[in-house]
Amino acid sequence: MSRTPKQATDGRHECDNCGLVWPADKLKDIVDIEQRVDEGGPVPSGQCPDCDALCYLIDPKAPRVVVYVSGGNVQCARANVEGIAVEVFDVDNLEETKTGDEIEADWKQVEQEYPHPIF
Ligand SMILES: [Zn+2]
Repeated sequence: MSRTPKQATDGRHECDNCGLVWPADKLKDIVDIEQRVDEGGPVPSGQCPDCDALCYLIDPKAPRVVVYVSGGNVQCARANVEGIAVEVFDVDNLEETKTGDEIEADWKQVEQEYPHPIF
């Protein structure tokens, strides 16, 4: 059975391999989709321009945050829904006052308080 990709006409599409996010017009056509997609599984929207893995449409209603970084410094962060707070764990600043083991312990605590990785 042959399957065709979803129309990649809108939205943002995340690579299942490298995690990069692409607008629809940057996605490549999927090569050999029949061999790469499981029957009944999610249908990819295109192929990653960077690594050629499959990309899937990101649910536009799922809360998402984008962090703008320039020169190693966070410039700003924006979310697609209201009510999301962003905190930055800045290791460079922590190194001035804490040891590596203390920073690692702090990070373990952050991971427990924020158990859902974004990327
Ligand atoms: Zn990729």
